[in-house]
Amino acid sequence: MPITFTIDGRQVTGERGETVLPVAIRNGFEVPYFCYHPGLSLSGNCRMCLVRVTPPPPPPPKPAPDGSVPPAPPPPRPMLVIGCMTQIADGMVVETGTPDVLKARQGVMEFELINHPLDCPTCDQAGECYLQNHSYDHGRSHGRFYEERHMKHTKALGPNISLWGSRCIVCTRCVRFTDEISGTGEICVVNRGDHSVVDVFPGRPLDNPLSMCTEDVCPVGALISEDFKFQARVWFTKTEKTLCASCSAGCNVDADTVREGIVRLKPRENTDVNDWWMCDGGRLSYKSQPAAARLIQARVDGKPATRAEAVREAWSRLSAAGGGIAGLASLWNTNEELFLFRRLLRILSPDADLGVLEQAPGPRQQFKGGFVIQADRNPNRGGAREILGGSAVEAGASAVARAVALGKVSTLLVINAAPAPAPSPELDAALEKVRTLVMIDVLPSPLSKRAHILLPGTMHWEQDGTFVNADGRVQRIRPVVTAPGDALPAMDILQELFNQHPPGGSGLLSGDGVFRQLGADVAAFREMTYREVGDRGIPLRTAAAEPAVRS
Ligand code: SF4
Ligand code: SF4
Repeated sequence: MPITFTIDGRQVTGERGETVLPVAIRNGFEVPYFCYHPGLSLSGNCRMCLVRVTPPPPPPPKPAPDGSVPPAPPPPRPMLVIGCMTQIADGMVVETGTPDVLKARQGVMEFELINHPLDCPTCDQAGECYLQNHSYDHGRSHGRFYEERHMKHTKALGPNISLWGSRCIVCTRCVRFTDEISGTGEICVVNRGDHSVVDVFPGRPLDNPLSMCTEDVCPVGALISEDFKFQARVWFTKTEKTLCASCSAGCNVDADTVREGIVRLKPRENTDVNDWWMCDGGRLSYKSQPAAARLIQARVDGKPATRAEAVREAWSRLSAAGGGIAGLASLWNTNEELFLFRRLLRILSPDADLGVLEQAPGPRQQFKGGFVIQADRNPNRGGAREILGGSAVEAGASAVARAVALGKVSTLLVINAAPAPAPSPELDAALEKVRTLVMIDVLPSPLSKRAHILLPGTMHWEQDGTFVNADGRVQRIRPVVTAPGDALPAMDILQELFNQHPPGGSGLLSGDGVFRQLGADVAAFREMTYREVGDRGIPLRTAAAEPAVRS
């Protein structure tokens, strides 16, 4: 049964057990706060979300047995309470901007700033700092504190996170994160009163696999990521919504770029996937394939060529192969690429053997708050199963290697979008027998070195597309940075190959255009569009409703 009450005269509803602050935020009311975080337990220590609440009037008194009616109780009096800890009730009246609320907030801000250094010009949090913003909106224009300020320690808490203690407002979000979400409990509050500050327990550095989420939850610049420290002012960054591809969890991320380079990845809230979190490995993954190491030039028989020449030559050799053709894709390719790859191979040879390259699994890690780092280090096994077929994915590259070893295959098409794994001994030996290896790849590898025709492809930061995560959820990736040199998404290269095929392909479709074709062809993607997938993703039409990531 929903609870109905008013905030600033507007009727709103919430669920029984909810408190005022989340309902106010959900309905667009601006109530400032520091210590509240939707993914953590309530703590109520910062006192910033003060609102004026008038409880619902008590029911009229019941007549006494003698028939007399006791006097009605006095009407409830309004009081200032913290919105994050005050449970909603039917008929309650909440006011967020009365003079007493504004004055009390100003008082809270004054206490918060007593020991705070004037660090904003050099603080990495400036521009996205709750304290800075609330100080502008709710603070006094001048300070009244003339005594000496307490300086607190500045130190590394772990390999990825440093503490600027004087900026800490002791909201305990970081403490609750390590207690409730990572379950590692490294952070505590030490000292008392206005000497309070956070620290790690002796001999227990902050080095758990989710440690950098503490920087995300810190509302001020007290916890700073060593990776982002002094890299950019946040108002110069451009943000794009995309995914982490380092495992099959498919965490939603915001990628911040400056001058075409990624400077930071931050988790993007999606309660169907990763809540508010991501792991440190995924967060730092943008550094793993530097542009300087990339393949940026097409090659034909070892000699540099233009992309148009390489595509023409690739088509001529692929189409001349007759039935002796097979293909390997990667579990890092998007659904759009896998769909075009399968279609091209089927046109060239309806019985062509298909297989996949994949990254080796890592340990599966599950944390106290339910967050999971999946063992499968490939972002699109779910999509490959639907598009190429479960048996092709389960067989990996072995069916193709066997077909080559038996002399059934003279020409191999490989599309890869990640550091190519070293070929298995079986595949390595089989490759000796291949007459033509046409390859789209991103980094030099033992495989790309053997390619007769090599076309530079892109990584998932540089292209549009979709992945299917471990829960069977279809999610969007978007181009965050421009690909270097001649590199082009495999989706576009495959369409250029189609366009060589008489009577020609359908030109160059956008990601959404190819995705719609996929939706018309593969039942699990039936009639899907990018618009429907949106920023939060949708389940495969055939996927089980239960999210596996939490199990
Ligand atoms: S370091 Fe940040 S998150 Fe932790 S208690 Fe201080 S202000 Fe809060
Ligand atoms: S859990 Fe997986 S998808 Fe999420 S951030 Fe870590 S590596 Fe990336």
